[in-house]
Amino acid sequence: MPRDPFGGKYELGDQLGTGAFSEVRTGVEKATGKKFAVKIIDKALCKGKEGMIDTEVRILKQVKHENIIQLYEMYEMDNKIYLIMELVTGGELFDEIVSRGKYSEVDAAKIIHKILLAISYLHDMGIAHRDLKPENLLLSERSKSGKIMISDFGLSKIFSDDEVMKTACGTPGYVAPEVLQRKGYGKAVDLWSIGVITYILLCGYPPFYHKDNVELFKQIMAGKYEFDRPWWENISDEAKDFIRHLLVVRPGNRYDARQALDHPFIKMNTVSEQTDR
Ligand code: ADP
Ligand code: MG
Repeated sequence: MPRDPFGGKYELGDQLGTGAFSEVRTGVEKATGKKFAVKIIDKALCKGKEGMIDTEVRILKQVKHENIIQLYEMYEMDNKIYLIMELVTGGELFDEIVSRGKYSEVDAAKIIHKILLAISYLHDMGIAHRDLKPENLLLSERSKSGKIMISDFGLSKIFSDDEVMKTACGTPGYVAPEVLQRKGYGKAVDLWSIGVITYILLCGYPPFYHKDNVELFKQIMAGKYEFDRPWWENISDEAKDFIRHLLVVRPGNRYDARQALDHPFIKMNTVSEQTDR
């Protein structure tokens, strides 16, 4: 660890979490005392993509949205890349799902609405997230008013394809069929993941699951899932119809972010918030 990785501007603190590609720690800006999250990435994982890191980070720095974790700065030192990001304190949506069990339709639709607004904003900028899953959805604070915040967008692009494939194989449950077939990385992959997340929020378990990854891949590539009884019995047709338009194997036939935002499941449950758009 270099003693002074950020030209003396920041001091590193406690670990906030670890991911497949990185360690995340708090960082304090010495001049102001302001706290940030610092994502530390091993450059070895970006082999072959070194040239595009600067370009990608420059694009990601332009992203400013209330439901997206802001990226402020990047520093490069020795074998590491340090990304200075907005700090949030509410933890992962994943832990919230585990503790709640599942969400009401209204609460689920409100969260999905915010995710769709953020994803539609990214897609309009030509950026796909490509790694949407509850672990990458953070809460701004640990209270009822905690906003959903998307993290990790676009970064998968700077990792080598082999690394991305390795993590996809680590948590394949959220990955679109075209990714498993190595056929595509378009914006449509995000809408597939939103379908998976919606399904999980409403029933508390994933649509595609098998302890054997080969079987799981087959299920995903066939788009084979069910609205099992009794868990789905009391869930509305609108919610199911919404999911049916997202868990579509052919990316060209899948809803895009705009179409998803216009679906009755979102519209009906977020009437009071529609002015936000
Ligand atoms: P990876 O891309 O390697 O999976 P993540 O960016 O998802 O890494 O970060 C790993 C963990 O670190 C997250 O799941 C979360 O717990 C924590 N974390 C990431 N970013 C922030 C942040 N901006 N503020 C607070 N905690 C964060
Ligand atoms: Mg992550």
